Amino acid sequence: MFARLGGMFSSDLAVDLGTANTLVFVHGEGIVLNEPSIVSIHQADGSVLAVGREAKAMLGRTPGNIVAIRPLKDGVIADFDIAQKMLQHFIARAHNRRWFVRPRVVVSVSSGITPVEKRAVRDAAAQAGAREVYLMEEPMAAAIGAGLPIEEPGGNMIVDIGGGTTEVAVISLSGIVHAKSVRVAGDEMNEVLAQHIRKHYNLLIGERRAEEIKIELGCAFPTGEPPRRMTVKGRDLIAGLPKTVEITDEEIREALREPIMTITETVRMVLERTPPEIAADMVDTGIVLTGGGALLRGIDRLLRQETSLPVTVAENPLSCVALGVGKALDELNLLRKVALPD
Ligand code: ADP
Ligand code: MG
Repeated sequence: MFARLGGMFSSDLAVDLGTANTLVFVHGEGIVLNEPSIVSIHQADGSVLAVGREAKAMLGRTPGNIVAIRPLKDGVIADFDIAQKMLQHFIARAHNRRWFVRPRVVVSVSSGITPVEKRAVRDAAAQAGAREVYLMEEPMAAAIGAGLPIEEPGGNMIVDIGGGTTEVAVISLSGIVHAKSVRVAGDEMNEVLAQHIRKHYNLLIGERRAEEIKIELGCAFPTGEPPRRMTVKGRDLIAGLPKTVEITDEEIREALREPIMTITETVRMVLERTPPEIAADMVDTGIVLTGGGALLRGIDRLLRQETSLPVTVAENPLSCVALGVGKALDELNLLRKVALPD
């Protein structure tokens, strides 16, 4: 598999193909693209209208003949054709119309992925123009990107809370000692928030609006500060007319309780299955949080309380996976150690 790992071309790239966001890292340059994983298409002929940020702006606002699609769901490819088109578009954009040979591509995948799902990612990248495709597990990429000493014998725990999945893994000696992926993360939080607002205020809000509320008011741990409020506009379920209500952060914390509990329970489960020597190391090394969900206020404090371990949020949590796959692209010795077998 690594026989061909010879020279490196400047067109080689690494991709964090996330449920919510796709980031592209180009060899020698760093992260050159960071866009929502969304494609809007004409329903009549399936042609692509917009990709990324532009397509996200259309989410929930598209007229009948246009649909905005998120080709990844729960951490895996849900719509192969659209995923492949999106990848092709992003790779072309990352190369910015420069002449390029077919690039070598490193892509991160969920640690809970099945062989069929893995094959779908390989094929999508190959059809998008990749010459060679290497896969690596997301939590490994996140750990490398967060700067954890993954090659050392001490145990490190990484918790990556993305859009579709939360990946929890203990890493030691460049390998994953134990990992668990759950399909509860940012998207699920948006959904329970929208449900809460529908149930309590008879107010219908879209996915995008729910995410804005979560980012503005969301929290996982009581702040001890006076409540923060925001007004939310939506459509009244009964009257069918636009309506405005006021909500507080306290209420959002309560609404987010269940998905957040699933995440803390997953962390506990992985801790319980970690061999004792490595678990003992983690009393000092603790847990590092990555992914957009790590930005939820108080999530670190909550996990600290639940595990009694030190918990830190990585610097630039949204970029860790991309930086990690990028590092593996730049350092072939590292790629050899962490790439998944065919
Ligand atoms: P993925 O790897 O699945 O693409 P990301 O790591 O890019 O996911 O994280 C995206 C998720 O993080 C989204 O669900 C988004 O709503 C959430 N997110 C981003 N910023 C914040 C924030 N400040 N607070 C809470 N959640 C956030
Ligand atoms: Mg991710």
